[in-house]
This record gives sequence, structure tokens and C-alpha cells, in this order.
Amino acid sequence: MSDAANAGTQIAELLVQEQQIDQTQLAYAQRVRERLPSPRPLTTVLQDLGYVTEVQVRQTLRNRRMDIRLGDLLCELGLIRESELQSALALQKNRPGQKLGQVMIENGLINEDTLLDTLAAQLGLPFFRNDLLTPDERTVRRLTPGLLRKLRCVPVRDGDGPLYLVFDDPLVAQLPEGFEDLVSDHFELALARHQVIEDALLRLNRSGPVTTPISESVVVRKVNDLIKAAIADGVSDIHIEPMKDRLRVRMRQDGVLIPREDLPLDMARSLVSRIKIMAGADITERRRHQDGRILYEHGGLKLDLRISFYGTVHGEKTVMRLLNNRSNLLDLSEIGMQPRLLQRFREDVLDIPSGVTLITGPTGSGKTTTLYGAVNYLNNPNTSIITAEDPVEYLIEGINQCSINSKIGVTYEETLRHIVRQDPDVIVIGEIRDRFSADTAIQAALTGHKVLTTFHTEDSIGGLLRLLHMDIEAFLISSTVICVVAQRLLRRVCSACSTEHRLSPDEIRRLGYNPAELRQLVFRRSEGCGECHFLGYRGRVGVYEILVLNESVRDALIQRKTSHEIRRICTETTRMVTLLEDGLVKATQGLTSFEEIIRTLPRLDRPRPIPELYRLLGVRS
Ligand SMILES: [Zn+2]
Repeated sequence: MSDAANAGTQIAELLVQEQQIDQTQLAYAQRVRERLPSPRPLTTVLQDLGYVTEVQVRQTLRNRRMDIRLGDLLCELGLIRESELQSALALQKNRPGQKLGQVMIENGLINEDTLLDTLAAQLGLPFFRNDLLTPDERTVRRLTPGLLRKLRCVPVRDGDGPLYLVFDDPLVAQLPEGFEDLVSDHFELALARHQVIEDALLRLNRSGPVTTPISESVVVRKVNDLIKAAIADGVSDIHIEPMKDRLRVRMRQDGVLIPREDLPLDMARSLVSRIKIMAGADITERRRHQDGRILYEHGGLKLDLRISFYGTVHGEKTVMRLLNNRSNLLDLSEIGMQPRLLQRFREDVLDIPSGVTLITGPTGSGKTTTLYGAVNYLNNPNTSIITAEDPVEYLIEGINQCSINSKIGVTYEETLRHIVRQDPDVIVIGEIRDRFSADTAIQAALTGHKVLTTFHTEDSIGGLLRLLHMDIEAFLISSTVICVVAQRLLRRVCSACSTEHRLSPDEIRRLGYNPAELRQLVFRRSEGCGECHFLGYRGRVGVYEILVLNESVRDALIQRKTSHEIRRICTETTRMVTLLEDGLVKATQGLTSFEEIIRTLPRLDRPRPIPELYRLLGVRS
């Protein structure tokens, strides 16, 4: 028996089950069919005999979704001949990816309405024949126009009736997992003509990342709650991690990852899908790593979130980085520079109209905050400031910020080539990462521009030496670089639970002092309390080493003296205070702890006596 004939038998049995015909009628139709001179589909014979109508057949098929192939069904319904099906199947073999229905429409075997009618019957879906679909706005907002366009789906609400998701491609059975939770309403699938779907999708307003609508859906609310909580607590990153038995949510606060809550594992997929939709990522892709971006508006604050999806053995891990979630840190006077240091940085570095200022430190040392603080200080109506950043982390009114985006061809090199032509006074290069960006910074300074940039080095002298090692002429460095800032972020001792810490002789020795000449050194330390999540620390404080180059340092550089010699010249002739020294002063002020100093600060030289450091930094004892 051919597949098509088999389909006929299946449909006929279904008609019996649905009591449209009885067994006697079926047996009679089969006997008639066998005696016909040319083959005729069984369903057609049943209709010829007047046992059922075409409408009844379609109704039955719609009620009882069947596993019959489209071509066989078209044959059985008498819409095409078996020979036509065979030639369509042969044509389809030469056109990989094209669907059988499409091949038959293109070759004039059937029209689109007939195809959709049959598909509707095959899949048991309604077929919307109207030319105009009015999308349901609430569902459009929830799923976003971008996703709907991607799925080629138009949500339509039938009065107070059900929500229909209308497609032109009937393979909608492959909706992404977790999709139901996103729609949140009960919905049914339906079909409409290709052009009708196309028109409706075109009419959806085109927009980029969408500000999240508040919805009753649990998942939507959960994502909103997490972001809102992160904003309120000044969190820098949200981690959503699938574990074997739960979904763990942690948030990074002051550089430390703190467990926040556990969610049921079955929430994982829809939660990630929801974030993917907000971030404009592909929700059908679950195995490959992806990234995306969310522009989130909340309480007058516009927040830029960078999202990363990472496939792990337990599912996708999501990290959301809240880029400008520290809006009050843009003032230089609030980042922890001691009074005299701050004054020098403003007057001897930022107020100088040209030259390169390098801000250095490892990742997470607060370089960007200092860079933006400096930009904010220089920002005024008479100054043109232009940036090349990867990516823009804070938005500052009045300056021209460019976010590097190599995906669309806005590369670092291309941007730096164009930046000088914009007639800027101040050029901010997000990071010196290679010879090309170093050259750009130096050339811009040589032509009279002020250049601010960051550099990945351990200390200030290291910044100068690393430029030398990039094969940049020593005289170019010495004639353009005016200042190198090195910095770290140290955890701030929790003021609610801190107590005195009198350092032991051994601890004093570890800091580089001689216990005999320095008998007493009192810091503070904490055991931890509810206020600091029992970490003993709350917030962070910057520690700075600011080298303002003078003639002695420039000479030492040109003569290629050793780093040890250059360092000695810097501390002796430029009033530079080292990272360790600035940290020690902050520890005596009760801001940070002995352990933080030992953990984070380089101890290259013996620190000078505390009273001398107080004087150099302008700290009152
Ligand atoms: Zn505490």
C-alpha cells in the first residue's frame, strides 16, 4: 500500500471513530474503490458516495491532529495527483532547505490558500483568511517586535477570546523552550498567508533594546526585582548560575561576590529566555556563548547592562554587568585621594593643557572611575572632549563618547585614526593595549592635545618602562607623558563592627618598618556584622601613587636608568607617595586593614615614617 493510500485508511478510520461514518460504509467504500478502473483516494470515494462532506473531513482532521505527511494528505484530499506529488518531491531534492509546500506553490500545483487549508487540517490549526491582522499590543510589548520578527509571528487577540499566535510557516511546533512562560497568557497557534504576516510585522514599531514593561508574570517580575535590587545596593554584577539542584543568584558588591538567593531550577530556562529577549540575544540558541545589552530605565536612572550568556554543563550561566551603577563616584574629591594629592592632580596634571596622563593598575583597581572623574573635572562648555572606549561605561553629558564595536566595524584602530580629526581639546583613549594605541596617544600629545588613558601595569614607574618596552623612543615618552597614576581599590573596614588592631612587632616588620624605631602602630579590623554581610568590610577606598614627571625623572628615562633608580629619583625629587605609603596612611585613619595592605599593595621599598607621609599628603594627625 502506498503512503498516500495509507493516509486515506488512517483518515477513514478516524471518521469511523468520530462517528461520521460507520464500519459498513467504510467497507463498502473500500470495495468500490478496489473496482475503480483508475485509482481514486478513499476519502474522495467516501465523499462521492455521499457518506461525508469535504467540510466534515476537514473538521475531523482539525479535531484529531494526525501524523500524516503533507504530500500524502494533499493526495488523499484529491488536491493533487500522486504523480504530481512524486514530481514535486523530486524537485524538492534539488533545493535543499525548501519546503514541499513552497515547491508545489512555485510550480503551480496548488495555491497558497489550498496549502494553508491543508496544513491547518494536518496540524489541527485555524487558518486566518483576513488580509489584515491587528497585533495584540500587550503581547507585542512582552515578546518585543524583534523576537516576533525573528519567529515570524503575529499575536492576535480575538475579542475576549483566546490569544492566537499566527504564523505563515506551520513548523511552529518548534517554539523555543520556556516560550509559554514568556507569553504568560494561554495561547493557541494559527496560520495566515505569508504576505499578511509580512505586512503585520512591518507595522510593528521598529525599536532597539526595549525598556522592560512591568508584567504580572513571575519570571518577568523576578528579573525586574533582581535588577532593581542590584541598582539599590550599588551592585556591579549579577550572576545567575545553574547548579545541579538549584539556580543560584549572587551579586558582586564592592568587588566581592555575595550569595543573594536560590531559585528553583525549573525557573532557569524561562528566566534566561526573558533576559535574552531584553538583551536582544537569540533565545533559540542555548549551547553557544552569547552576549547582549539592556538599556534599563528605573526611577529616572538610565542604566546600561552588558549581558553575557555562557553555556555550562548544568545549563546557561548569565552574568549581567551594571555599567554606570555608581553615579555618585564621578567626583574626583570622593574617590579617596588625600587632600594634597588631589590638589596636585588637579593643578599640576589636569589643568595642564597638553600631554599624556596614564592611569594604571590591574583589572578592578578603579582606573575607569579615576578616568571618568578626571573627564568630569575637565568637562566645560569651552572644551571639546572626545572618547574611544570599549565599551562606554558611564555616560557624561556634554562629551562625545564612542563605544568600540568591532561587530559593526567600529574598531579601536579605525576610531583612533579618526579621533584627532574631530578638533578635540581632550582625547580619552579607553586603554593603551598595543603599539598602535600608544603611538596615537603620543602623537596626539605632540600636536598639543591633552590625552587621558589607562594602562595595565603594576605601578607608576612600571607604566613608563612598559612604554619603553613597546619600542617607543625614550625622548618621545619623556616629552609627552606628564603624569602616571597607579592605583588599587582596598576594601573599607566596616565602621559598624571595627575594633582597634595594635600591630605586633612581626606585623610592623612585614610592612617594611623597623619595630624598634616604631613601637606603636594602630589600625582597625572587623569581625563582621549584619551590616557588612559578616565580611568585616563595606565599600572600598582607592589608594593612589601619583607620579608627576619632572626634569630629573625625564633625564633618568632618557638615560634608561634601572627601574630601581628611577623609583628612587621619583620619591626623592617629585614628592611622590607610593601605593604602600598611601595605603598605610589610610590604615592609620581606620579606613582599611593590615590584611588588605598585605594582600594588595606592592612592597618594593621601605615606607617613610608616618608623620612624614601625613605631611606629604596633607593629612592632619
Ligand atoms: Zn560590620
